[in-house]
Amino acid sequence: MENNKSTADLLIIGGGVFGNSIAFHHCLNYPGRRVVVLERNELNSAATSRAAAMITKVRAKTQFIPLAKRTYIAIREMEALLGESLGLRRNGILHVAASEVKVRELDQLIDIAGQYNESAEYIAAEEAEKMAPWLDCSTVFKIGYMPDEAYCDPYLLGSFYARSARLLGAEIRTGITAQTIRMKDNRVTGVETDHGYFEAENTIVASGAWAPMLAKTIGVELPMAPVRSQYWITKPDPLFPEASPMVVIPDVNAYFRPEGGSLLFGIREKKSLGVSPSRLPSELSGFEFSPDRGMRDLTDAIAGLAAFFPTVYDIGIQHYIAGFSSYTPDNYLSMGKHSQIEGLMFATGCVGAGIAVCGGVGHAFSEMAAGKPNPYDFSAFSLDRFGEIDSTSESWVERCAAARSVKNSG
Ligand SMILES: Cc1cc2nc3c(=O)[nH]c(=O)nc-3n(C[C@H](O)[C@H](O)[C@H](O)COP(=O)(O)OP(=O)(O)OC[C@H]3O[C@@H](n4cnc5c(N)ncnc54)[C@H](O)[C@@H]3O)c2cc1C
Repeated sequence: MENNKSTADLLIIGGGVFGNSIAFHHCLNYPGRRVVVLERNELNSAATSRAAAMITKVRAKTQFIPLAKRTYIAIREMEALLGESLGLRRNGILHVAASEVKVRELDQLIDIAGQYNESAEYIAAEEAEKMAPWLDCSTVFKIGYMPDEAYCDPYLLGSFYARSARLLGAEIRTGITAQTIRMKDNRVTGVETDHGYFEAENTIVASGAWAPMLAKTIGVELPMAPVRSQYWITKPDPLFPEASPMVVIPDVNAYFRPEGGSLLFGIREKKSLGVSPSRLPSELSGFEFSPDRGMRDLTDAIAGLAAFFPTVYDIGIQHYIAGFSSYTPDNYLSMGKHSQIEGLMFATGCVGAGIAVCGGVGHAFSEMAAGKPNPYDFSAFSLDRFGEIDSTSESWVERCAAARSVKNSG
């Protein structure tokens, strides 16, 4: 067993984009404090590296907007610190509406963009087809264009956070598994690991889809469940220029973005696959997310997709990517301080939006860990909003998985 005697000011469990962002923000804004991140596998190797990484700011759930705006600030700060570019792709996004219901939602989104000082305009079908040559707008009612939305390489983003945090003094350690949270008199004092005990003033659980099992070690039920997301990448084709915008088509629950001369596209299946956190393998490499690489789900959706992406039948698929994010029944994040336990916070329940909101999440928890007020409105994200639950029960997992199927944003 190792000697981890010196008490950390801040102990973070999980080295994904949330954990690393918290470490970066805390080291940047509170220099001199001892920040330790524990990751059991490679950094950013779980949900983070698998994301489509659309950093969408303009959303119907307006509480996410300041968090996502902060991600763009964090990227600029890290680029200055590291003297390197993240290669952010500011290609913009097209929101395509092909029904009265979705037109109303699009109109609301354009209003929201105005309220939050984000550029947004309606554009004509011909213009949209010129920007995204694979897109067929013949059945489309209305198209919104938000030119300042971007995507990135999510693994690089996670690495930027970790490298910046390390440069500013964080200890980021891999190959260490947190096993149980330890408490004394209603206060968390640290975490027991397979490499000994780590003592801390403040502990933040940022262990993604695995967090509910760690929470259970002190009798806390975290309101979220692991739900699979999957997307495909086509073969390269001139139809997919690298500078073309991302596209969201809520009528068919689909999103698209360019990927190095190919098209990356994902769908929200009619029935998403949820898994009890007690059954998640600790390492996902080699894990079989789908025996047919999602082909059945794609087949179910393909007629709808073809109305907007007619070459989908012929284009050829080159890659299949899947992973687990944590979903909640209302599609709001699940995070914050525990209401009854001191010294413990959860940066969890990402609802498939963790790349977009990671900057704000890191900033928020960094402030709270310093005893400062949270600069963001987390009231919709509270950990006790669903009352008593069993985070490993089949009915709970089904409720969370059902929520992903109706999610609209990118
Ligand atoms: C297919 C797919 C597409 C996506 N597309 C987008 C998108 O376009 N835009 C967007 O914003 N988001 C997207 N997401 C969601 C995004 O990837 C997640 O919200 C984000 O990565 C969550 O980060 P995290 O740090 O919470 O979790 P993770 O990246 O999963 O990190 C958690 C870490 O904790 C570690 N850990 C777990 N238990 C322990 C333990 N006991 N001890 C030590 N370490 C532990 C894990 O090994 C892991 O590395 C997508 C996700 C998937 C799967």
